[in-house]
Amino acid sequence: MIFYKTDEEIELIRESCLLVSKTLALVASEIGPGKTGQEIDKKAEEFILDHKAKPGFKGYRGFPATLCISVNEGVVHGIPSNEPFKDGDVVSVDCGAFINGFFGDSAYTFALGDVDPDIINLMEVTNDSLYMGIKEARVGAWLGNIGYAVQEYAEKQHKYGVVRELVGHGIGRDLHEAPEVPNYGRRNSGKKIKPGLVIAIEPMVNLGTRKVATAKDGWTIITQDKKVSAHFEHTIAVKKSGVDILTDHSFIEQEIKNNANVKEITKKK
Ligand code: MG
Ligand code: MG
Repeated sequence: MIFYKTDEEIELIRESCLLVSKTLALVASEIGPGKTGQEIDKKAEEFILDHKAKPGFKGYRGFPATLCISVNEGVVHGIPSNEPFKDGDVVSVDCGAFINGFFGDSAYTFALGDVDPDIINLMEVTNDSLYMGIKEARVGAWLGNIGYAVQEYAEKQHKYGVVRELVGHGIGRDLHEAPEVPNYGRRNSGKKIKPGLVIAIEPMVNLGTRKVATAKDGWTIITQDKKVSAHFEHTIAVKKSGVDILTDHSFIEQEIKNNANVKEITKKK
C-alpha cells in the first residue's frame, strides 16, 4: 500500500532530507585517499546525533553503521571499514536520517584522486540518469517511465549495466515503503503517479555487467565482474505543481569544489 503524503508531511521529510544532504556534504569535505570509511562514518553519526536525529540505517535489519560505503566494485550496502581509501578509488556513500517521525535518504559517488576518465563518465551518466528519471515523475504519469528513462539512457545509450536486483522505493515513516521504483522497465507500465507520492530514485549503474553478488561480509553488494559501480540517489515528492527534490546535492558539490582529493563530475545541462 502506498502512503501518499500531505504537504505538511512532505515538509517534515524535507527536514530529514536536508540533514542527510548536509551529512553527505560533511562526507564530501572529509573524504580522500588515506581516510578510512570508519572515521568518516563516525563523523557522520556524530553530526546526525548532534542534530537530534537518528541515523536511518544503523540497526536497520541489523546494519552496523550510519553510512553505507561501497568502494569500487561495491554497488551498495558496504560496511565502513578501517582500510584507508586509495588514490583512484570510487566511493559510493549512502546516508539515511530519521527525525520528526520521517526518513530521508540520499546517495552520492565520489572519485578520489586520479580516477580513470572512463569511470568519471560512468559516474556522470549515472548521475544524469537520476535526473532523467526525476523528470518523468509527475502527477498522472506512469511510474514505470522513471525506470524506463534511467535504463534507456544508461543502458541503451551508454551500454552500461543497470542493476536490477536493487531498486528505489517509497519513503516516509518507514525507510522502505511501497512502491518499488526499479531503474529499468517498460514505458507506460506500473501505477499512475498521484499527488503526495514520496520516493527515493537511485540508479545503480555498472561499468561492465549488470549482474551483482553479495560479498563475504554478507552485506556488500558487488559487481560479478568486479568492475566499478556508481550510485546516486535523491528523495523526491511529486505534487500537483510538479516534482520537488527534497534532498539537495548542491551542498555536496560545493564541498567537492573545496576538496582537492575529490574530482568534480559534470552534469548534463
Ligand atoms: Mg539510500
Ligand atoms: Mg534508498
